[in-house]
Amino acid sequence: MLIGLLFLILFFVFIHATVYGKMAEGNVPYAERNTQSSRGRLVMPIPFRLRTGMLRTEDIDRSLHWMPYYQKLSKPAKDVFCGRVREFMQSKEFSGMMGLEVHFDMAVSVSAAAVQLTYGLEHYELSHFHSIRIFPEVFYSKINRNYLKGGASESGVIFLSWKHFVEGYKNGADTFNLGLHEFAHALKINTTQGSDFDEEFVHYFTELEKSSSPVIDSIRRGEHNFLRKYGGTNMHEFFAVCVEHFFEVPKLFREKLPDVYNKLCVLLNQDPCEEQRDYRLTSHHASERIIDRSLWKRMKDYRYAKWHWSLSILLAGIFLTPYFLFVLIPPVAISSSVLWAMYTAFLIGGFALQYRKIVKQQALNVTQFIFYLLLGFGPVLLTLVLGLNMLIILPGETVEQYKMTGVARMTSDGDYKIFLENDQYTDNNALTIVSKYDRDLIRKGNVLELSFKTGIFGIPFKNGYTIREK
Ligand SMILES: [Zn+2]
Repeated sequence: MLIGLLFLILFFVFIHATVYGKMAEGNVPYAERNTQSSRGRLVMPIPFRLRTGMLRTEDIDRSLHWMPYYQKLSKPAKDVFCGRVREFMQSKEFSGMMGLEVHFDMAVSVSAAAVQLTYGLEHYELSHFHSIRIFPEVFYSKINRNYLKGGASESGVIFLSWKHFVEGYKNGADTFNLGLHEFAHALKINTTQGSDFDEEFVHYFTELEKSSSPVIDSIRRGEHNFLRKYGGTNMHEFFAVCVEHFFEVPKLFREKLPDVYNKLCVLLNQDPCEEQRDYRLTSHHASERIIDRSLWKRMKDYRYAKWHWSLSILLAGIFLTPYFLFVLIPPVAISSSVLWAMYTAFLIGGFALQYRKIVKQQALNVTQFIFYLLLGFGPVLLTLVLGLNMLIILPGETVEQYKMTGVARMTSDGDYKIFLENDQYTDNNALTIVSKYDRDLIRKGNVLELSFKTGIFGIPFKNGYTIREK
């Protein structure tokens, strides 16, 4: 029995590893080919896992001393940049390939390239990508049957040759930058495969495509002298090659291809020429009609915005729902255990539907997420359900009759708490307190008639009462 179970588990592990391995290795649609051949052999990856405690802002800051883009930022912008690097790093698994050991500085550097590219965007996590595999140098890809320097796979893996990644930044103005190139592919793939991306980016990409096609044509005809020939391969490579030029020689790019350059500024919501302003787009982008004014109004400075919508729900849950639930729950004619069951179901549903969206994307950590569910999402949803149930009422009403078995005491308002046969609704004062003006009718044996309406969610609530004499 036990051996059978063990066998079954091993079988599933094997199947998973096989399928997953295929997915991860499979289809590298946008890969940088190596021009010189070299020998390389895939061996088992050495995973680099991060512990949250390791990632201090000072350490990230220190490890980015080599990066001019980062060094030119103001202090508050650097803090935001480091925060993004930290969250990006934590959401990916870094693996060293062919015996390469991935160090902290390497993971920071690779993450920083992604953050540089997405610095103007709201969504920078590239959540579709779960793994980054770093090779010491060019590597052989069985799928492409070629030696590659890097690639971004639609299955969510990014491949990089460390040697070429470093060279890309070392020669900061030669317009070759492997890291930015592959992350440009990843950013584009993420808009079709991922769950989080900037909608503005997706819409505006077609604008870039419009300006690009004459340029792509001239590259193909060999008449172009700014972007390299590889950019003429297709729109994906054009975008990736443009990104390399955009960050490495922005002023020259703006001079040579102002239309494409300005479109890239809008697309990525940053302008690498604006070093003094943390690369923010300035109002001249709007005034010189680079961006039409309606779009300018919609552009936001996401880099400094850290607030996530789940925090608003948490605050609403803590400060608003107690008041509403205090009013909404008492008239409800279902037992408290059913209400608790509803609340629990909301928590389970909320966990299942939102864990990926909120925790995996680093908007909240696990503890914050649990607080969000318990004090935010659960109470807010309960309030909405009970509130709507009371606002949208189904036709008809039901009536329940119970004999009075006793009167307890007067409440502070002078009203009476009464007891019904079979202890019905004893714990629900909203149903069993009657007005002091009915005191003449409150007698053992008389009948309390409760009328209920039912709301849109099928939950009955008290509509009124009458007392009938026996
Ligand atoms: Zn490429």
